[in-house]
Amino acid sequence: ACDIGTSRIRLLDESTINKIAAGEVIERPASVVKELIENSVDAHASEVRVEIGGYGTKSILVVDNGVGMSHTDASLAFKKHATSKINTIEDLDRILTMGFRGEALASIASVAKVELVTRQEDSIGGTKVVVDGSGIRNISSAGTAVGTSILVNDLFYSTPARKKYLKSARTELSHIIDVVSRNSLAHSDVSFTLVIDGKVSLRSPSSAKMLDSIVHLYGADVARSLVPLEYESDLLTISGYISKPELTRSGKDLQVFFINGRSIFSNQISNAVRLGYYTLLPKGRYPAAFLNFIIDPVNVDVNVHPAKREVRLSHEKEIEAMVISAVEDALGRGSLVPEVQVRK
Ligand code: ADP
Ligand code: MG
Repeated sequence: ACDIGTSRIRLLDESTINKIAAGEVIERPASVVKELIENSVDAHASEVRVEIGGYGTKSILVVDNGVGMSHTDASLAFKKHATSKINTIEDLDRILTMGFRGEALASIASVAKVELVTRQEDSIGGTKVVVDGSGIRNISSAGTAVGTSILVNDLFYSTPARKKYLKSARTELSHIIDVVSRNSLAHSDVSFTLVIDGKVSLRSPSSAKMLDSIVHLYGADVARSLVPLEYESDLLTISGYISKPELTRSGKDLQVFFINGRSIFSNQISNAVRLGYYTLLPKGRYPAAFLNFIIDPVNVDVNVHPAKREVRLSHEKEIEAMVISAVEDALGRGSLVPEVQVRK
């Protein structure tokens, strides 16, 4: 007789599954901020206010004036894979929204205590949903302005191991500032305010100009050493700024790339930018680059990284060549060659 043996494989219960999945998307307080402000942008908000208590582990509040949610949607929003942004797998090929997996709110709620208050323009009252690691606690009506506010308290209260791995308050706050800065550059038509422990730490101008945001976020000295970059081909358009070779950094902290409004990290793009400078950069130094890529979403796979930090591009080689030549052009225009004094 054949021995079917004892089974060691068990199916995890849903709350455990959610906590594990959350680990991939919600690494730290800044991940929460990123997911919430991306939702606000997707909801067509023109104003987004972020308030941080402690260094995000105590509280994160994000208030927007976007389209809000209906009572029904508010109660569905925290379910895993609940999204209003795609319907079918084909939609993945034309994603222009920041979100699409319907995972963020479920993940956040599985590791924190969350209160959502939301109202749509055409509805008289709003909805308040209270949810935590064990599910929805309460749904009620609530008076509120049009838009959505999400309060996240006691982040990682249910996953002490994750909380232990957070870095210093200073480091966590710098990640939060970075996330808000990147988003305000990517969406210069949205005004972002970041308040840390009651003090305004960042307020992006409501101007729709990227350079204004750069001045605001990185200072006039950085902005002064930039040259504009514009490039257009059948495949893509690139617009933004790169630094003259004299402004470099030891890291890539002044490199911000967006593809279709999404802030991404890409060694490939970063390397191509560097190649465009040829030998003009000292070894181990990186130029500043704030570049916005508009590419047909068919050619961009955003579904390769849990936090969507990286993307996969079709036509990699062509795009690389285009970046190199865009950088060359931009530097050529930006009085790259030092003025030569001609002695008579
Ligand atoms: P995704 O963004 O991938 O769709 P989320 O879990 O982040 O998934 O959000 C789930 C859904 O909740 C969204 O698809 C959207 O319909 C709704 N939602 C979330 N945040 C907001 C917001 N700030 N304003 C309006 N709707 C929102
Ligand atoms: Mg989202």
